[in-house]
Amino acid sequence: MQMPVDQSKYLEIIDELKAKNVTLVAVSKTKPVDEILALYELGQRDFGENYVQELTAKAEQLPKDIRWHFIGHLQTNKVKYIAPFIHLVHVADSLKLLGEIDRQAAKNNRRVDCLLQMHIAKEETKFGMDEPELGEALDSLARQPLSHTRIRGLMGMASFTEDKGIVRREFRYLRSVFDKQNESRPGLELTILSMGMSGDYQIAVEEGSNLVRIGSLLFGARG
Ligand SMILES: *Cc1c(COP(=O)(O)O)cnc(C)c1O
Repeated sequence: MQMPVDQSKYLEIIDELKAKNVTLVAVSKTKPVDEILALYELGQRDFGENYVQELTAKAEQLPKDIRWHFIGHLQTNKVKYIAPFIHLVHVADSLKLLGEIDRQAAKNNRRVDCLLQMHIAKEETKFGMDEPELGEALDSLARQPLSHTRIRGLMGMASFTEDKGIVRREFRYLRSVFDKQNESRPGLELTILSMGMSGDYQIAVEEGSNLVRIGSLLFGARG
């Protein structure tokens, strides 16, 4: 049987995060719309999804004031499906992808906010840029600004490990890159630092995260 969404856990987490001015994105991938609505009714408006098709299907059925965050791997040819409504793309990791986001945002006569995804984990499989690539991308964007895309901050995922020391070091590193870029590039104004999931969000917040992406702690394990 499907476990219902944990409302008391939600209220506990949202109180904890609000006190620290941290935004909660409820990660609802693979979870049905009625469970999303259960959190919506408690006041939650930011939801995160990983798959374009699943997101567009859910967005159609759900209230229009939901702010949808795209947090999965985004293929260039799928940008057009989310460009009309996406609130924040967390996973911009190449100029090619950003160029397509900009083109599709322009087509829809809107601006799309993006985070640049950085690779901070040990695992090879996680997407994102390293620090030199980030620097090159920001240099290029400074020379040729995008008209319908705004870079709002950075996103990263820590290693999947029980070793909290490693996780903390990776988050601290991302925070240092975030600060360094803000200091060295006046006018850039990175304000969002998206790091932390169910297993490590408290460490992430201690290390300066102001947006956490939490799924299984709210919705139960994904089957
Ligand atoms: C699935 C996912 C999450 C949520 O993971 P939980 O461990 O269930 O909280 C957060 N961020 C990204 C990028 C994800 O893919």
